[in-house]
Amino acid sequence: MHPGNNLTRDEARRRAALIQTPLYDISLDLTRDSDSFTCEATIHFLCQEPGAESFIDFLAPSVDSCELNGAEVAKEAFNGARIKLGNLRDANELHVLGTCAYQNVGAGLCRFTDPVDHKIYLHSQFETFDAHRMFPCFDQPDLKASFTFTVLAPNDWIVVSNNPGQAQQVAGKENIKRWTFGATPKMSSYLTAIVAGPYHGVRDRHGDVDLGLFCRQSLAQYLDPDEIFTVTKQGLDFYGQAYKYPYPFQKYDQLFVPEFSAGAMENIGCVTFNESMVFRSKVTEAVREDRANAILHEMAHMWFGDLVTMRWWDDLWLNESFATFMSVLAQVEATRFKNGWVTFANQYKAGARRQDQLPTTHPIAADVPDIESVYLNLPACCGSWSPTSDRTPFSVACSATSNSVSMPTPRSRTFSPTSKPDPVETSRPGQSSGSRPRA
Ligand SMILES: [Zn+2]
Repeated sequence: MHPGNNLTRDEARRRAALIQTPLYDISLDLTRDSDSFTCEATIHFLCQEPGAESFIDFLAPSVDSCELNGAEVAKEAFNGARIKLGNLRDANELHVLGTCAYQNVGAGLCRFTDPVDHKIYLHSQFETFDAHRMFPCFDQPDLKASFTFTVLAPNDWIVVSNNPGQAQQVAGKENIKRWTFGATPKMSSYLTAIVAGPYHGVRDRHGDVDLGLFCRQSLAQYLDPDEIFTVTKQGLDFYGQAYKYPYPFQKYDQLFVPEFSAGAMENIGCVTFNESMVFRSKVTEAVREDRANAILHEMAHMWFGDLVTMRWWDDLWLNESFATFMSVLAQVEATRFKNGWVTFANQYKAGARRQDQLPTTHPIAADVPDIESVYLNLPACCGSWSPTSDRTPFSVACSATSNSVSMPTPRSRTFSPTSKPDPVETSRPGQSSGSRPRA
């Protein structure tokens, strides 16, 4: 990690008091056959205190040009992770052209080459603080904004984002299409998403909502859209009634993406899932229940988490615990998986009570003075929507994971070197077979 790539709660509060109504116009060129892509961003925003100084987050190998209100910003203003912005006006226009790096660490815009057919697939993963690996932004949940994305991509790719997209051939470049996505509703930067590549897609519709399922082509034969669409439709109906608010966004795409670092992620209208939920062999009913729960967990966030969002990461526990509660409720009330509460009692509640006996227990509403602290407190925000349930903390993203594939557990990050790991925890059978999603 870049040493300067952090954001404190105090900085975020100061910035939220200063900066208002940012509008982002983001153009990405994904046609370069290299480890990098270009990002051109035009950002309009208001400032409460003319003359004040602030900064915008941008973790990129280089800023190729930067202008604030028509004046060039000095190269020294960019430290590799943020750009200092001085002498702000009431209304500001920032223009940044940067070169960004594809990632393979599960954060930012991730690039994967399929070993089966050598096709290239991209997906983004931004929670908690990684949107600024793809474009410059005020990367904190309470500075909600409208985002307009434009993406240049190879001809045979599809590009999926939060809003529906339209593709047009680029004049004079028959191998390239330009994808445009209309301005999003106001939303947090960590919930924006771009998924791109020659994905296999299946479409359906439920009421007014367009539905899509996507996976890489080499997995298309294993995708079972019928069951996934059935749970999706049952969930949309249930939540629309339970929240007394119809599905708040324009469409609902679900994408199984390769090398995904979490279990699933609730990007608005563009939910990403770990590929382990595309079943390549016969699985147990428990694993299917696991996947249904993950689908419903992410969907619950569309209302609670996405439409309504925590101001800062110390309320991540509430965001996650409520989605977990709603997902089990929806599962039992609206789908064929009627044993949800039994599974919850065994897999979550028992683990929570066990962990509450340990000296490592802590408040569920944790003190999160900066982004680094979110990661240090993974058991609180990921493992414990029940306060201390067992989970595999791949990421602070919604790590709803099917356990049909055993995955590494970076547990050492979550305990101090001096704490004694619970032997029951480290050998829990559910880590490798058939437990419910960790969401
Ligand atoms: Zn979640």
